[in-house]
Amino acid sequence: MRIGGLEAGGTKMVCAIGDEQGNIMEKKIIPTGTPEDTMPQVIDFYRGKEIRTLGIGCFGPVDLNKNSDTYGYIRQTTKLPWINYDIVGNMKKELQIPIGFDTDVNGAVLGEAVWGAAKGLDNAIYITVGTGIGVGVYIGKRLVHGLMHPEAGHVLLNRHPDDHYKGHCPYHANCAEGLAAGPAVEERWGRKAMELADREEVWEMEAYYISQAIADYIFAYSPEKIILGGGIMHQKQLYDKIRKKTSELLNGYIAREEILNGMENYIVEPLLGDEAGIKGALCLGTLAV
Ligand code: ADP
Ligand code: ZN
Repeated sequence: MRIGGLEAGGTKMVCAIGDEQGNIMEKKIIPTGTPEDTMPQVIDFYRGKEIRTLGIGCFGPVDLNKNSDTYGYIRQTTKLPWINYDIVGNMKKELQIPIGFDTDVNGAVLGEAVWGAAKGLDNAIYITVGTGIGVGVYIGKRLVHGLMHPEAGHVLLNRHPDDHYKGHCPYHANCAEGLAAGPAVEERWGRKAMELADREEVWEMEAYYISQAIADYIFAYSPEKIILGGGIMHQKQLYDKIRKKTSELLNGYIAREEILNGMENYIVEPLLGDEAGIKGALCLGTLAV
């Protein structure tokens, strides 16, 4: 069966055709401009491709409540032209097929649970540390929704004593996204994150923040696996630093082998690699009815 996947991001739209096994047959990247410029190109990609369903993993916040009048809309995002854009309704009108819809990170955690690093587990989280910090939450084999959806990138953290950077989040002075996502790293240190690779203090501070967030996610969600991806995590030295600091913060309280002696298999890279987002969207498509 042919399925469409759309990873709708603030900088790019990744459009793909794939199947129920997570294979991708065709892919196209379209830069994200305004909805009027971008969406006709996105819709054109899927036309005539004989897809049965489409999955959309979307940047947020989005309305996921199927009983709401604004279900399938992008809400009060910082990407202004997209505020209140009805992405599901518009695609459905054009393509006339069932659409599965969730946040990009919920898609990614689903993809990892079905095809990737959390395969077979009932509970996992996927964290991306990129332009923002987003967390997809899969608990009891379901993607977590609520009033909205988890916004765990905005958990509040203790500041590093040597950090005098004001933070990058317009809403919170001390949240994880504002202190540790890519734009914060780059503004604090005055260089592209990639160019800071050999600056030990940069990644120590980064691990200090990400591990605090992860300790909170472990306390609150009790995941069986934590998948950590996104552009900033291309700095592979972060993984061991984060595992070590997270263990220190938990301080033996979560007395499970996975944490006490198995951190390298507990906090892991996405098995779907940089395709976690688009494969996640495809996976949302497999569930669309
Ligand atoms: P998005 O979050 O927009 O989907 P990414 O996950 O690729 O995109 O994250 C983009 C961020 O990751 C940028 O801040 C960029 O500087 C950073 N980044 C990308 N590659 C690297 C790298 N090799 N090392 C460190 N940071 C990187
Ligand atoms: Zn915030």
